[in-house]
Amino acid sequence: METDNQRIEIRAYAKINLCLDVQGVLENGYHQVAMVMQQILLCDDVLLRWVPDETADGVVISMGTNRPWLPTDRRNLAWQAAELMAQTYASGVCGILRIDIKKRIPVAAGLAGGSSNCAAVIHGLNRIWDLGLSVKELCEAGARLGSDVPFCVMGQAAADPVLNVAFVDDPLACHCAVATGRGTDLEPVPGLNSYLVLSKPPISVSTAEAYRGVDEEEIAGRPDIPEMVRGLRKKDSTLIQKNMVNVLENYTLKRYPVAMYTKNKMQKECNCDALLMSGSGPTVFGLCADREGAKAACRVMKEINRESFWTRTTV
Ligand code: ATP
Repeated sequence: METDNQRIEIRAYAKINLCLDVQGVLENGYHQVAMVMQQILLCDDVLLRWVPDETADGVVISMGTNRPWLPTDRRNLAWQAAELMAQTYASGVCGILRIDIKKRIPVAAGLAGGSSNCAAVIHGLNRIWDLGLSVKELCEAGARLGSDVPFCVMGQAAADPVLNVAFVDDPLACHCAVATGRGTDLEPVPGLNSYLVLSKPPISVSTAEAYRGVDEEEIAGRPDIPEMVRGLRKKDSTLIQKNMVNVLENYTLKRYPVAMYTKNKMQKECNCDALLMSGSGPTVFGLCADREGAKAACRVMKEINRESFWTRTTV
């Protein structure tokens, strides 16, 4: 029936790591991390369309994106999210699910683009199938698909204009969090309010490779995360900037000269208050004093990297 058809479009925001520490390897093989994750306005648009159909063989998924080289089958995290939600929460439900993703977030960049698409599908199906799951329950589903997914779930609950009304009272809906364990133990903290420039050199760094690299590297300096959190609470930029340290940065910058070149150029020519590589890289971001500063920095970085953006943190 036409009236049963549903569509929902969700903004799948990217994240940056304000700091990242690796503290060992857990029994399950994952690295034990401690980091501050901050949501930013740069986003992909994830459109879900659902047509109930009793003649369908369960939930029949198809998908497309504006990046022709991205897989549009089970290898895509968005597809995996749909499959997981269908298996876990929609047994006996039959119909056609179409997922269309307009990507803006660079891929394999340290910005959690795939994880954020995954989170958007989890949220979207919670809404379409009227599951009534809390942010905590949605995070638990997300954690089965990737370590960054729960943070993206929490961020979308706070920032997406379609979703956030339903989650205003949910304590886990937030823009910024301290992540520990394998990155899925999350505690909301006040976010940073800043304009940003982001620049991704034209290489892909696999997360697994960067974490392997850190096992072999001497770690020169580590962030003091409680001090970073105090800085965020007090809006003390000295404490925040002092602790903008990512222990994966040394490996990636040394291994990939274009990543080093990107950071050096941003440092010398962009007038940023502080800069850091996000996640396992290779994207480097800089804090900018205002919108004009971020736009000017973006123009400079576009001279070397097409995938350069100006944006701001979500608040
Ligand atoms: P993280 O910061 O969470 O480690 P990332 O930003 O480094 O993530 P992604 O953009 O999530 O990396 O992509 C990592 C890999 O996942 C890519 O190699 C890509 O082929 C695959 N992938 C699967 N689904 C998606 C998707 N929907 N969007 C982007 N990449 C996807």
